[in-house]
Amino acid sequence: MATRDLPRHSLTFGPSPIHELPRLAAHLGGPRIFAKREDVNSGLAFGGNKTRKMEYIVPDILESGADTLVSIGGYQSNHTRQVAAVAAHLGLKARLVQERWVDWDDPVNDKVGNIELSRIMGADVRLDDAGFDIGIRDSWQQALTEVEEAGGKPYPIPAGASEHPLGGVGFANWAHEVVAQEAETGEFFDTIIVCVVTGSTQAGMIAGFAEIEDAGGRKRRVIGIDASATLEKTVDQVTRIANTTAEKIGLGREIRDDEVDIRSGWAGPVYGIPDETTIEAIRTTGELEGVILDPVYEGKSMAGLFGLIRGGQLTEENTVLYAHLGGQLALNAYSSIFE
Ligand SMILES: *Cc1c(COP(=O)(O)O)cnc(C)c1O
Repeated sequence: MATRDLPRHSLTFGPSPIHELPRLAAHLGGPRIFAKREDVNSGLAFGGNKTRKMEYIVPDILESGADTLVSIGGYQSNHTRQVAAVAAHLGLKARLVQERWVDWDDPVNDKVGNIELSRIMGADVRLDDAGFDIGIRDSWQQALTEVEEAGGKPYPIPAGASEHPLGGVGFANWAHEVVAQEAETGEFFDTIIVCVVTGSTQAGMIAGFAEIEDAGGRKRRVIGIDASATLEKTVDQVTRIANTTAEKIGLGREIRDDEVDIRSGWAGPVYGIPDETTIEAIRTTGELEGVILDPVYEGKSMAGLFGLIRGGQLTEENTVLYAHLGGQLALNAYSSIFE
């Protein structure tokens, strides 16, 4: 089945807006830069990229007859907040495992921002001491078992929804949305810049644009900026999920190695900790455009865009579409950076 034939449960306002960032582009002196704004894509708890992924998972949730969504992330996980919102929206329960993925010493790290919103939305939030890992965790299996033992019917949604078989389809659909928006505006974005951690956002884009190109559409690059500081694992993960998604959308071929383009150098020391380049990207984008980025994800992908322009890999020949995937709520736990 092609992307357009797969069942979708709308959770968004419609196509997310695209707008230009002219002052930022003038400052950097290279390509024209546009942003596509997943941070304002939905009315459900501020939305974000996970809300889009969930659009293709909800039909399966409803069909399963589950009553509790079970998911996992860091204390300041945007993903678990979006799962809590979708659960509230559908009248289901949410059980969230929040692990200590980031060794960030902020006194309200486990109280404000994303985790506060999940609590407001009625999710059962459990803190766990385990560190960062994008794989499948014991604590998560444990949560599933506990829901069952209490007589509930759990529906598992892995970290970032990435290991879910349908996790990449939302962003395959995003690729089609971009092409439709290009047709309306006459722009062509030859380079997409996207943050990558658990992988299904970029993987979905890769599969979706492959589908478009195979049908005769124009070729473009989807450049992932690694924000996990585990490049090799990330490349494996994105390649695997891009192939799973390709199969779901009936691409009829494997994803080529050259379609998986992930750049490192802007992840900071580890996942969740910004470095000077992250902070510069956050400040500059805020000062010049009034657009807010977070220190875990989008500040790093924007730092990657800055770096690629300064390194001459992106020039005035290019037109860049920066995928803004959301994440600003985590800023509440990083106030000391900007004091
Ligand atoms: C989850 C997330 C990402 C990374 O997306 P993956 O699909 O996990 O690679 C980037 N930005 C924000 C704001 C996120 O919440």
